Amino acid sequence: MNIPITKPYLGIEEETAAVEAIRSGWVSQGPRVKEFEERLAEYVGAKYAVATTSCTTALHAALVVSGIGSGDEVIVPSLSFIATANSVVYASARPVFADIDHETCNVTVETIEKVITPKTKAVMPVHQMGLPVDLDPIMDLCKKRNLVLIEDAACAIGSEYRGKKIGGHGNIACFSFHPRKVITTGEGGMITTDNPEIAERLRRFRHHGMSVPDVERHKSRKVVIEKYVEIGYNYRMTDIQAAIGIEQLKRLPFIIERRRQIAEVYNRELKNIKSIRVPEIPDCAFHNYQSYWIELLDSTPVSRDELMQKLLDKGIAARRGIMAIHMEECYKKCYVPLPETEQVTKNTILLPLYPAMTIEEQAYVIQCMRELRQ
Ligand SMILES: *Cc1c(COP(=O)(O)O)cnc(C)c1O
Repeated sequence: MNIPITKPYLGIEEETAAVEAIRSGWVSQGPRVKEFEERLAEYVGAKYAVATTSCTTALHAALVVSGIGSGDEVIVPSLSFIATANSVVYASARPVFADIDHETCNVTVETIEKVITPKTKAVMPVHQMGLPVDLDPIMDLCKKRNLVLIEDAACAIGSEYRGKKIGGHGNIACFSFHPRKVITTGEGGMITTDNPEIAERLRRFRHHGMSVPDVERHKSRKVVIEKYVEIGYNYRMTDIQAAIGIEQLKRLPFIIERRRQIAEVYNRELKNIKSIRVPEIPDCAFHNYQSYWIELLDSTPVSRDELMQKLLDKGIAARRGIMAIHMEECYKKCYVPLPETEQVTKNTILLPLYPAMTIEEQAYVIQCMRELRQ
């Protein structure tokens, strides 16, 4: 058997939609991007959505339009993909790393409060692997301290916190459509917000700082001379990507259902292996299982890296758990000891999970895990 860590779930509908976009003659940001934004805003329950080239550029744009810049500190988890912290550096601010709660692998209001300083201007919690953070206490903290709150929701499309979708809680939230995430447009990102001024500034920022959107200029019956009121970036999604995104969004409920079914089987079958801890999901969270992780407990027969190699020898692609940004060379100036983060990054692995995974494939992964870890 040959089992990948993940496989995007794309079909003939995405293919047809991409072809139609190409045949329409409008391939850069246009009517399909607008439709994708409107559908996604409606899906998560936000007033506005603004498409970008990736979640990384979405985070950068969100920070800048929120007024974050030089001299400001932004609190982020270290246990995340490196782009979370990089986006803060792009905005000329300084990432400050908060530790996590071991149980959920997410930051909490307590771990955030510990690293607040007078320079803290924003908090950027990550819904890691799609599992929502305990958002209410963090929102209260940010309100009380007048801090900007930006959710790194790269993995969390379709996840829910207290019965409401991530992106629909009134904050700025940034999503990713990279193929490793739940739905994909090849590369791509989206920012949701309820604030009309923020949405407006985001549209300008991703479009070279130009005062008039392309769609308006093309539709106008009068000559329109655009203005450039600030330095912007080219962070525009193409209409070909958006055409694919619209079809992916239609599949999202099915994709999440499948991911949850497969995760449930893993939870049930792996829980009995003594040396493994499976995720426990808090009651306030509905998890899309963007990734499925397990923790290898100390008393284990083979080390994590040996286990991953043995699985690979059997044709199964596992991955190390989420990285710890503060331990990477390029962030050594920001190093602070983060005990829970360091333990989790060392002892966790991700197992294959994708909607098209068959019962036989999953049974094979489980059987190999039993043989190697029992
Ligand atoms: C994947 C990911 C990103 C980056 O997303 P891109 O769309 O690839 O730029 C940012 N943050 C987290 C938590 C991620 O998992």
